[in-house]
Amino acid sequence: MAKSKFEYVRNFETDDTCLRNCYIVVRLDGRNFHKFAEQHKFSKPNDNRALGLMTRSARSVMEELEDIVIAYGQSDEFSFVFKRTSTWFKRRASKLMTHVASQFSSSFVFYWKEFFGEQPLLYPPGFDGRVVLYPSNRNLRDYLSWRQADCHINNLYNTVFWTLVQKGGLTTVQAEDRLKGTLAAGKNEILFSEFDINYNNEPVLHRKGTTLIWEKREETVTKSMKLPNEEEKDVAVTRRRKTVEAHHCDIIGDQFWEKHPDILED
Ligand code: ATP
Ligand code: ATP
Ligand code: MG
Ligand code: MG
Ligand code: MG
Ligand code: MG
Repeated sequence: MAKSKFEYVRNFETDDTCLRNCYIVVRLDGRNFHKFAEQHKFSKPNDNRALGLMTRSARSVMEELEDIVIAYGQSDEFSFVFKRTSTWFKRRASKLMTHVASQFSSSFVFYWKEFFGEQPLLYPPGFDGRVVLYPSNRNLRDYLSWRQADCHINNLYNTVFWTLVQKGGLTTVQAEDRLKGTLAAGKNEILFSEFDINYNNEPVLHRKGTTLIWEKREETVTKSMKLPNEEEKDVAVTRRRKTVEAHHCDIIGDQFWEKHPDILED
């Protein structure tokens, strides 16, 4: 096709190719979800419908886009890690990030009903995205550890805060005052001595967040086969299929990584 005289404007596009060999991390975070949670009557401190919908949307991102090897989510955020050798969209940061953000957002709306039933979605939610590159396995693991540590810190705080309000009868202002300056040990102590709650027995989904990885599963299906004599017969066929599986476990220590050695590349 002949070039138009307008074609030169393409040269104004900036090059945002991600450095080779690096893991490409796209992290999404819900826009103004403090308000979104309030308006949609999320239960506090953790609304399992919302967490389920976040995970469903992240699963859709992994299944529909290429080269994502692991995703980690908590609260209103999800991080997606592209394998370091990915050449999807020529590693253009804006392409990768916008595909993740839009696939996630449209899925969040598409699957809303599966988690919230007849409760209406009051307005179209949005998610911001950012891209960060990590050159080593250690850096990538530390990134994921950072997010899981953040999940722990926030969940411990929120668990004590909402216990003081919901069971202790404190106002939110009083609960905030009570927690000012307390360390983790102090928060655990309030839960244990005043409310008979052992934080370690709180749901692992809330304490550890959600990790999604690809796993090979054996799947047996019955297929009807035509025999040479034209007769039909049902036979069981077993095949290995890659599916996205959710884990709610520690990913800071070595155990998870030793159990799933093919997530990280050399
Ligand atoms: P920003 O637009 O800057 O991200 P934000 O209001 O989304 O603002 P965040 O720091 O991202 O602020 O915090 C998300 C908030 O959403 C949490 O503080 C929490 O109140 C709420 N939230 C998200 N998911 C849940 C959930 N599953 N259950 C209860 N509350 C949730
Ligand atoms: P890519 O993912 O690379 O963008 P694409 O298939 O979306 O691939 P585009 O160059 O964006 O390719 O072209 C969009 C195509 O979508 C058009 O070629 C056209 O066939 C179709 N299309 C989009 N909008 C309309 C419309 N309103 N009516 C008919 N066809 C449309
Ligand atoms: Mg934020
Ligand atoms: Mg947010
Ligand atoms: Mg957030
Ligand atoms: Mg297109």
